[in-house]
Amino acid sequence: VIEIRDIIRDFKLGQETVHVLKGIDLDIKRGEYVAIMGPSGSGKSTLMNLLGCLDTPTAGSYKLNGKDVSQMSDDELADIRNTEIGFVFQTFNLLPRTTALDNVALPMVYAGKSKKEREERASEVLTNVGLADRMDHKPNQLSGGQRQRVAVGRALVNKPSIILADEPTGNLDSKTSLEIMELFDQIHASGNTVIMVTHEEDIAAHAKRVIRLRDGMIESDTYN
Ligand code: ATP
Ligand code: MG
Repeated sequence: VIEIRDIIRDFKLGQETVHVLKGIDLDIKRGEYVAIMGPSGSGKSTLMNLLGCLDTPTAGSYKLNGKDVSQMSDDELADIRNTEIGFVFQTFNLLPRTTALDNVALPMVYAGKSKKEREERASEVLTNVGLADRMDHKPNQLSGGQRQRVAVGRALVNKPSIILADEPTGNLDSKTSLEIMELFDQIHASGNTVIMVTHEEDIAAHAKRVIRLRDGMIESDTYN
């Protein structure tokens, strides 16, 4: 699914150029379960944002499902994000005044699905993530773990080809983290490609492959 060749990402800060990713080569196949680890500031989120088409590289190529996304326009990238990528954030990023059902249904609005189709699919997805009895709750009426389940549901709703999660358990206690990881395990077992960032070895142990970044480069790439 993913083919990355010699990706460089620099950021301009005033007069200075910060070199964050310094030449990343990475292939990820359909159905893989990958954890990305590394010290704070090593470039994990920068890499995830590129993988998720939230950002484009300074140099290098990124092919997603055979399509070169490194040269695409913002509109084309928005379309790829909506159809091929599900992104889960550490801070959930839900709409606060919107029910769980409507948060999950939102990506289908952009995809042009009918209201009936949206409601059916969103309630199916919420049931799959264990929230059948919480569909009409707003984020502030849900626990952290339940909020993250809504965010996972939203990521899954358009049946993307990859699920990306940047520290999905970073704001959760250890018991709730384990429940969310069991959900990711289930998502992987049902055939999805899952790539997550974590600081914790016991979270990374859920994945089949662990990639460690250091100072903007891949330090190691091993299989559990
Ligand atoms: P953490 O574990 O703390 O989340 P990380 O590995 O995700 O760290 P990144 O967020 O990818 O690290 O940041 C890597 C480096 O790139 C940091 O030094 C950061 O300051 C820098 N950086 C990231 N985004 C930008 C930006 N938009 N402009 C300038 N520098 C940036
Ligand atoms: Mg980060």
